[in-house]
Amino acid sequence: MASLSEYKKKRKFDKTPEPGPTKKKTKTGRMFVIQKHRATQLHYDFRLEADGVLKSWAVPKGPSLDPTVKRLAMEVEDHPVDYAKFEGVIPEGEYGGGTVMVWDYGTYAPEKDEDVSAALKKLKFTLNGEKLKGSWVLVRTRGRQWLLLKHRDYYTTEEEVTELAPVSILTRRSLAEIAEDEGGDIKKAATGDPKKIPRRTGVKRRKKGSKAKVWHSNRSVA
Ligand code: MN
Repeated sequence: MASLSEYKKKRKFDKTPEPGPTKKKTKTGRMFVIQKHRATQLHYDFRLEADGVLKSWAVPKGPSLDPTVKRLAMEVEDHPVDYAKFEGVIPEGEYGGGTVMVWDYGTYAPEKDEDVSAALKKLKFTLNGEKLKGSWVLVRTRGRQWLLLKHRDYYTTEEEVTELAPVSILTRRSLAEIAEDEGGDIKKAATGDPKKIPRRTGVKRRKKGSKAKVWHSNRSVA
């Protein structure tokens, strides 16, 4: 099931700084990462480690912590595990050309004892990231089209986590700052007034009756 041949076919590794198509396994074998990616359109690439690769979905609006909100998640090609560390710029004109940020990072656990890369219809899992925690589900609707949604639990909030915590979990940079540092298109990567970008990198669990709180952290990818 897991294969990096499509990943390899789409990229020229002498032109892009993205990692090569090598399979490997992290210590836990259950890493998850979300990359905020300003290509033609802004989207969030949601990736779960399984069988030596990162199973991947492109989520145009990003994840929502509101259990009544379903977010479209288009299944895309498996990515190498090393991709989780990739934050930088894919040259314009190359596949996925634009700026990439490591938006959230952590581990996950399937909620049932199931084969993650063989899941055809539904995949329930618990995330243990900095921004995203708790119970989630991916449900396939047709073809490569899935829906990502949050189950109601202690980590539910109606606030938009993508707006509350917009910057990199690794470097606290905004997309425009990553583009600036790595020689990308700053204007294309800009998502609003840089002075108004919150630098928080997490959303704390909610106490009953209170609003979501945020915290700062500096965490490096293993
Ligand atoms: Mn992408």
